[in-house]
Amino acid sequence: MKLHEYQAKDIFGKSGIPIPNGQVVTAADQATKATQIINGPPWVVKAQVHAGGRGKGGGVKVVHYPYEVVTATESLLGKHLVTPQTGPEGVTVNQVLIEEGIEINREYYLSMIVDRSTACPTMIFSQAGGMEIEEVAAKSSELILKEHIDPAVGWMMHNARNLLYSQEPPPPFGALRALMSVMANVYKIFMTLDCTLVEINPLVLTKDRKVFALDAKVNIDDNALFRQKELLLLDDPREKDPLELMAEKYHLNYIRLDGNIGAMVNGAGLAMATMDVIKMAGAEPANFLDVGGGASEDMITKGVEIILKDRRVKAILVNIFGGILRCDVLARGVVAAAKKTRIRVPLIVRLEGTNVKEGREILRNSELKFLVARDLGEAADLVSKQVS
Ligand code: GDP
Ligand code: MN
Repeated sequence: MKLHEYQAKDIFGKSGIPIPNGQVVTAADQATKATQIINGPPWVVKAQVHAGGRGKGGGVKVVHYPYEVVTATESLLGKHLVTPQTGPEGVTVNQVLIEEGIEINREYYLSMIVDRSTACPTMIFSQAGGMEIEEVAAKSSELILKEHIDPAVGWMMHNARNLLYSQEPPPPFGALRALMSVMANVYKIFMTLDCTLVEINPLVLTKDRKVFALDAKVNIDDNALFRQKELLLLDDPREKDPLELMAEKYHLNYIRLDGNIGAMVNGAGLAMATMDVIKMAGAEPANFLDVGGGASEDMITKGVEIILKDRRVKAILVNIFGGILRCDVLARGVVAAAKKTRIRVPLIVRLEGTNVKEGREILRNSELKFLVARDLGEAADLVSKQVS
């Protein structure tokens, strides 16, 4: 689960990480009042969406007059914001954060993740923070420092020293204590809130050596939400893909991708293999929908319907290995969905496993034009032919 910047900053503030004063507004007429409470000029007006790269996409505006705060808020609210991280269709801005502008002297990058290769919580720090951090990571990875933390030991001062002193010159002496405190607090937040990511970019230093988190990203592990009930209140379903929400409602796992082949599978492993063969056949998946082990006929029908709601989908590949989910149940679900939606795109089916004969028969007798493939390779070839 992702949090908005203002929600993450609220957590930072309560944990002792310095943040600029700010206020969230959902209508432009609230903006005037905000300028009377919040220090400025300058003010910073920031779109609150679950996507980064807002600075590059026009979602962060630094302004100098109260009326500009209002017009900037007006221009962002309801806008379709496109950033390098949203895809071309963009996301809608429902909330705007108005903050006191901070005079930036240095921009640092600080984050915490779990590093899969070492299975350790890992802090990442760079003195080359800011909007170009991805470029820095690609071109000068030596500027990005990593520190693995032994969770049994916890955060130690030497972890902070390793990050702060491993590069010449280190941050200015007067800022070290504040940076160490931010690092310790980031570790604490990461562990206590079951985060998959805590990121501050930029973490800035002002001329008078004060440190502020100017941006905040906090993602929570969905599998831990059962014990993070207060955080559930911060969930904003408006930010999610509507098809993903619909899938969630029917206990289906739906992941949106960039291509034009819809894929329905059962099991995460088969999903990965299916993505691979679609790509190897020269096509690109638009999504994958995992119906899981014990799907019912109704769930299959809903699954096909969800895939077809995406206009980009030009062909569907159903790849099911029948175990608990029997092939005849699957076939009936697919037939029902195809009839209900008056399907217009080709649907290729590859079935194997329990009751495969019955399943194929149901498809054959349905008078609908399914393409039934003998194996996965043939299925992928058939799919890629439909869209090439
Ligand atoms: P992101 O692009 O989505 O990561 O949004 P950020 O919150 O990181 O803002 C983008 C950029 O706007 C930052 O890297 C800063 O350079 C700039 N910015 C944000 N807040 C302030 C501020 O208070 N003062 C100034 N001068 N620049 C700011
Ligand atoms: Mn940022």
